[in-house]
Amino acid sequence: MIILDGKGLFKKIKVDLSLEVKKLIKLNKKAPHLSAILVGDNPASQTYINAKVNACNEVGFKSSVFQYPDDVSENTLLKKIEAINKSEDIDGLIVQLPLPKNINSNLITHSISPNKDVDGFHPINIGRMVLGLNCFLPATPFGVITLLDEYKIETAGKNCLVIGRSHIVGTPISILLSRNTKMGNATVTLAHSRTSNLNDLTQNADIIILALGVPAFLKSSMVKKDVIIVDVGIHRVPSDETKSGYKLIGDVDFDDVANKASCMTPVPGGVGPMTIASLLRNTLYSAKKVIY
Ligand code: NAD
Repeated sequence: MIILDGKGLFKKIKVDLSLEVKKLIKLNKKAPHLSAILVGDNPASQTYINAKVNACNEVGFKSSVFQYPDDVSENTLLKKIEAINKSEDIDGLIVQLPLPKNINSNLITHSISPNKDVDGFHPINIGRMVLGLNCFLPATPFGVITLLDEYKIETAGKNCLVIGRSHIVGTPISILLSRNTKMGNATVTLAHSRTSNLNDLTQNADIIILALGVPAFLKSSMVKKDVIIVDVGIHRVPSDETKSGYKLIGDVDFDDVANKASCMTPVPGGVGPMTIASLLRNTLYSAKKVIY
């Protein structure tokens, strides 16, 4: 079984990004600058933001985090986003999700200018992706196809099952894999919580992408031999094997399915690092103005 090593590929991408920054500086241009808005004190969100800031530091990008309490008003956030949209210095802006329940996440993420929307959530970027036009691809789906490409996994003509239809993961992955592009041309099925014959679909799939958010959901009895598995899920579960008292697992029962799959992403170290890699790539594209 081949491990699809997102962590390893991220290291290579960071080397390439550092070289790109050096080239920009040589041309008397500024380093790319990624900004993040963080609301509340959710420990998982803080961990994700730290990982993004550390990655920026490693490749020589500038980064800035604007932190707000849980009870911040929508208006305050919208004003900050408007200022960042106008800033000459900032190339990319992300709002760390989830936001508190009293805040309309769509309103906030859609107020980011499409040309700074390096998470690729804005309707303009999603629409351009559907039409196959230049755009910021959503970071996690972009990371998934980059990883499949690195391992030369053929998607054309394959039965590809995506489980989970969120706007930020499952739906855009299903669109990317079905487009007429190098890492597309798959016959895609998009399953969700109302899908009634999931077991038949998993048995028939050559490639399964899991983004449903149910820990250790996929078992070996559900898949055919030599299936390729990409696990987007991330869950923090209690564990007495680690010092911290918890460990990260995905939507796949990894040890069980490993006997049957031909290739699999691990959790951690699979899709997670590829999401950050894509975010940095999009920020570089924004700084170089190659998309807009
Ligand atoms: P979400 O909760 O928005 O969407 C889950 C989707 O799964 C829904 O469309 C739902 O219909 C479907 N679903 C739920 N239960 C199902 C079932 N039993 N059978 C079939 N479909 C079912 O989740 P999301 O934001 O897309 O995230 C999914 C997972 O991916 C989570 O664990 C999240 O933490 C993780 N995630 C990881 C990264 C990363 O970088 N690795 C990025 C984003 C999300």
